[in-house]
Amino acid sequence: MKINENFLNLSENYLFSAVGAKASAFQREHPEKKVLKLSIGDVTCPLAPAVIAAMHRAVEDLAHAESFKGYGPDRYCYGYESLLASIAGSYARKGVGLSYHEIFVSDGAKSDLGNLLDLFSADNTVLIPDPVYPVYVDTNVMAGRRILFADANEGNKFLPLPDERVAADIIYICSPNNPTGAVYDRSGLKAWVDYARRQGAIILFDAAYECFISDRALPRSIYEIEGARECAIEVCSYSKTAGFTGVRCGYTVVPEELKRGGVSLNRLWARRQSTKFNGASYISQMGAAAVFTEEGEREIAANIGYYRGNARLISQCLKDLDIWFTGGENSPYVWMKCPRGMKSWEFFDYLLEQANVVGTPGSGFGRNGEGFFRLTAFGTAENTLEACQRMRELLK
Ligand code: PLP
Repeated sequence: MKINENFLNLSENYLFSAVGAKASAFQREHPEKKVLKLSIGDVTCPLAPAVIAAMHRAVEDLAHAESFKGYGPDRYCYGYESLLASIAGSYARKGVGLSYHEIFVSDGAKSDLGNLLDLFSADNTVLIPDPVYPVYVDTNVMAGRRILFADANEGNKFLPLPDERVAADIIYICSPNNPTGAVYDRSGLKAWVDYARRQGAIILFDAAYECFISDRALPRSIYEIEGARECAIEVCSYSKTAGFTGVRCGYTVVPEELKRGGVSLNRLWARRQSTKFNGASYISQMGAAAVFTEEGEREIAANIGYYRGNARLISQCLKDLDIWFTGGENSPYVWMKCPRGMKSWEFFDYLLEQANVVGTPGSGFGRNGEGFFRLTAFGTAENTLEACQRMRELLK
């Protein structure tokens, strides 16, 4: 027996544990100090009442023989029609038409981002922006794929554009981006779609934070771009949209037109899912179906508005301090340049020790993250305000 030795090539994933360990050690040494975390990547607001009510109804369905549900419907890879209708409806409001057969309900974006790689040969070359959500790199390292990086930096405002000299088969795009909060406009996404089509490549578009886009001119789905149905798969989630990080539900869109070598990727994905997946739970799906109802949308808008308010506080603080940053608008993440030429971990220690504020060192998201720092809007408004006041005091 031989193990998959590609796993030995993974770098130690110590970023969040190191951040947590350093913050806890500091708190232990200084129990009198109130440490404030602007490093939270998880949501903190409770679920919307419409979602809770729908999940209560789903639990009740399971309690009675006449309404009991076992495995989800085969027809749509275990997605319930009420959920597919609400997802298709939300896309229609963005001007994107989808058939139910193009929507695959999942237990969240992270699993699908990894699982989708089953469809592609290990010989493919992958193009990944740097810095970015580490899952894209790690899942491809596990498969032994060749990885190239698209450099995101201050010069391109952390929104790299395609380089025609680079040949790639699989391209990752995350917009709004984690960790940089940068969001592609239509022309940026169009450049990627045109490039992918010329290359015969496939874009894996991660739209996990699309709900934070408030600027109507910015695309919330790659399918708002002409030609994307022939070259892109979109992965999305209820995690940040509706606070489902613990409930678990998401969806992946694989258009019917998406073919390579005459083979439909939609059919391949359906085959893969029916073999290796047995659906997201009925309770999660019913809760998710309530998200895009009139009541659900109103309620989740209030939660998203709360986080946006925090993002505005952080952005204003950095503007007043004259510190360069991306994000904060149309995104829950603010990506700041470390002041006074500090490196990411150096600034982490400085901010923790001097202001008792915790953030995330940018270097943990890729080589180009060195010298940058991620702050998030997922904390409470009170703590965000206080953290900003302390940063103003320290960095003025
Ligand atoms: N994609 C990005 C860019 C993320 O930042 C995250 C979570 O933080 C995910 C996907 C994972 O989402 P899910 O909770 O649906 O697995």
